[in-house]
Amino acid sequence: MSAPPRAELVVDLDALRHNVRLLRAEVGEGVAMMTVVKADGYGHGMLEVARAAREAGADWLGVATLDEAATLRAAGDSGPLLAWLTTPGEDRAPAVVADVDLSASSTGELAEIADAATRAGKPARVHLKVDTGLSRGGATGAEWPALLAAAVHAAREGRVEVTGLWSHFAASDEPAHRANDVQEQRFRDAVAAAESAGLHPRVRHLANSAAALLRPTSRFDLVRCGIASYGLDPAPGQPGTARLDLRPVMTARATLALVKEVAAGEGVSYGHTWLAPHRTVLGLVPVGYGDGVPRHASNRAEVGVAGARRPVRGRVCMDQFVVELGPGDPTAAGADVTLFGAAPHPSAQDWAEACETISYEIVTRIGGRFVRRHV
Ligand code: PLP
Repeated sequence: MSAPPRAELVVDLDALRHNVRLLRAEVGEGVAMMTVVKADGYGHGMLEVARAAREAGADWLGVATLDEAATLRAAGDSGPLLAWLTTPGEDRAPAVVADVDLSASSTGELAEIADAATRAGKPARVHLKVDTGLSRGGATGAEWPALLAAAVHAAREGRVEVTGLWSHFAASDEPAHRANDVQEQRFRDAVAAAESAGLHPRVRHLANSAAALLRPTSRFDLVRCGIASYGLDPAPGQPGTARLDLRPVMTARATLALVKEVAAGEGVSYGHTWLAPHRTVLGLVPVGYGDGVPRHASNRAEVGVAGARRPVRGRVCMDQFVVELGPGDPTAAGADVTLFGAAPHPSAQDWAEACETISYEIVTRIGGRFVRRHV
């Protein structure tokens, strides 16, 4: 009999396919679906996630970097793919050759893409990005006319094909936030300006998961869904997303390394930030911040052991942390510990709240010596 692995991330690709289909049903057939697989598929394994998403009907994949796009193409993915984050001087020609759609936020970026197209010997497929209020990527309203003019010029030269117009929300997880209305209106204005300039790309897109689900007017031609594809609530605490049958894709589990009873008053882990108030049983979980378990989970998060929730006691260390199993608890070393996953275990969202962060960060950063297993 082989022992269960010390620590593993079990990635349920059926759940991912289910979520992609569910999102598709929510947004309707007329809207294309992009599954966002950047940052190694939010920590779930980019290639496996990409394949499963395509199987479930994702029309597009979205990544941040050219390296991510190249990895997908090298693995045989040949469908529509957008990469949106490049730096000056990066060689975009291989991406143009590989039919990767590229984002342009400035005339400088567009010029680099056009140069790459010349070298590649074919037009680059470009999505012009307008900054509607996130103040991150994209041309500001003041810069937009110049970007449009440059795109019209490059298109006439046959160096770029403007395939998309796009932007990104700042607060779509808070549907009542006034930025949402402002951004959507600015996006409509930017699209109208593009059309007046003679650009009529087929793919206009603004919505991420939360907007795709909660703001139907923002769906346009395509929605870019990351977090919801991974089964995590894109707008925790908001009505409208909790009703959905999104299924968590990642389970982070470990095998309890050691169990011991300590007397009342004993200090636990570095700095003795927790003292046992009574005689109790502790369990040692063999993963720590070296594996992406947030140190902020110290004395805050809970894990699942045999269907019950057990609190993290004391500080999370580099390779291990301690949970309290409770007075007289019979759990033995070798037991299964679920850090987060599907109910009844704590969710990645529970960990996010305990650690004062978002579920995105929990699943994306977990890794290190966890072994990833796709099922
Ligand atoms: N679009 C862009 C530009 C993004 O950066 C992201 C992720 O951060 C997404 C879409 C997907 O967002 P979400 O995971 O909230 O669906």
